[in-house]
Amino acid sequence: MRNLNREDATALLSDAERVEMGEYCDTYKRFLGIAKTERRAYAEAVRLLTAAGFRPLAECEVLKPGDKVYRGYHGKTLFAAVIGNQPVADGVRVVGGHTDAPRIDLKPVPLTEKGGFAYFDTHYYGGVKKFHWVAHPLALYGVVVKADGKVVEIAIGDEPDDPVFMISDVLPHFGKDQAAKKVSEAFPGESLDLLIGSVPDPEAEKDKVKQNIVKLLESKYGISEEDLTSAELEIVPAGGPRDLGLDRSMIVGYGHDDRICAFAGLKALMDLKQIPERTGVVLLCDKEEIGSVGASGMNSTFFENSIAELVVRQQPGAGDIAVRRALEASCMLSADVCAASDPNFPTADSPNNMAKFNAGPSMIKYTGAGGKSGASDARAEFIGRLRKVFDDDGVVWQIGELGQVEKGGGGTIAKFMAYYGMDVLDMGTPLLNMHAPWEAASKLDTYMTYRAYRAFFSA
Ligand code: MN
Ligand code: MN
Repeated sequence: MRNLNREDATALLSDAERVEMGEYCDTYKRFLGIAKTERRAYAEAVRLLTAAGFRPLAECEVLKPGDKVYRGYHGKTLFAAVIGNQPVADGVRVVGGHTDAPRIDLKPVPLTEKGGFAYFDTHYYGGVKKFHWVAHPLALYGVVVKADGKVVEIAIGDEPDDPVFMISDVLPHFGKDQAAKKVSEAFPGESLDLLIGSVPDPEAEKDKVKQNIVKLLESKYGISEEDLTSAELEIVPAGGPRDLGLDRSMIVGYGHDDRICAFAGLKALMDLKQIPERTGVVLLCDKEEIGSVGASGMNSTFFENSIAELVVRQQPGAGDIAVRRALEASCMLSADVCAASDPNFPTADSPNNMAKFNAGPSMIKYTGAGGKSGASDARAEFIGRLRKVFDDDGVVWQIGELGQVEKGGGGTIAKFMAYYGMDVLDMGTPLLNMHAPWEAASKLDTYMTYRAYRAFFSA
């Protein structure tokens, strides 16, 4: 139901909905605790899809209504579909989110020593406030690929007995110079070195602390210093999602943006009770936080190739035009989080037009910056259609924009999908302190996001 005044919708929930909300949020928290990188989100999503009866698309020669398939790209980007009663060439319904999140990556040659400490040299990923990342326990995840192709998985910092890592900060007693700087200049990217050791190797001739770490990497993980040059290692906050507030009405976690919407789409697709009229598709993509670039980002041919793979399995010999028609006749919810109005920062607020907690997922008609530059603007006819879909299904929703005009801006994968001529609307869960190491969402909004995507697939 429309929530024009963004009133707290908690009282509108039925008893059954409250129970479902609790179960859904527990399931989501489990996923979020595992999915600390895009690779881990992918692996967990494939595990869930497999358990729900989805099969690799490559193993299916023909597709009929009700078939459940998925297709992945390099263990990072995922396409899953439930085939509908109507042909794919007549258009599909897409819920597309992303599973990468702001973080700190290791440089290609990361290992270094200075002043008796060993460090990993880093290069941050996505829009971070760098001061958020210092003086906090951090975990290390990723893969190291050896020259013979063997892949070593790294996951350190979240098991109870694991060590953690830290980026140090100057103490306030001697932080006068730092405090006099602008926040944007007080924490240079090059100073975000990750502390990983302090004990020297007595047998080494120089860089003794670093050499001790080299020995440890070799003995514990079977990797050499050179192996780190073919690796993707990501530094993320150590710890898992938790209930937030005495009333436990919210969830704090790393990477809500955008695993909260990605998971909602995935779960909505897996939970479809009946064969949908239109084929339902979920996209979990990578690299959104740096502009959807690269082969695993949405600005690639992965999505259209995946649609072509569906079409050809329904219409053998169908040409390129069938794929183009399918793309143009499709519609999409760009499933990405939005900023929630924060009473502590009223100057960022767009009165009456910014999402509030406990008022449901928010449609964002357009994103962009300044005069909507870079936006994909959803047309009124599509929003009108969706209003009915959500209202008929009892979904609590709100609509607005990202924040106050000329205070900043942002973008999602919406414009890359709109390129095909399909209708696309941004709609996702409101967050407090988006892109911080720990982000907050309300449980009601978390649950209603799932309900909105489920209604979209079923309608
Ligand atoms: Mn996002
Ligand atoms: Mn983001």
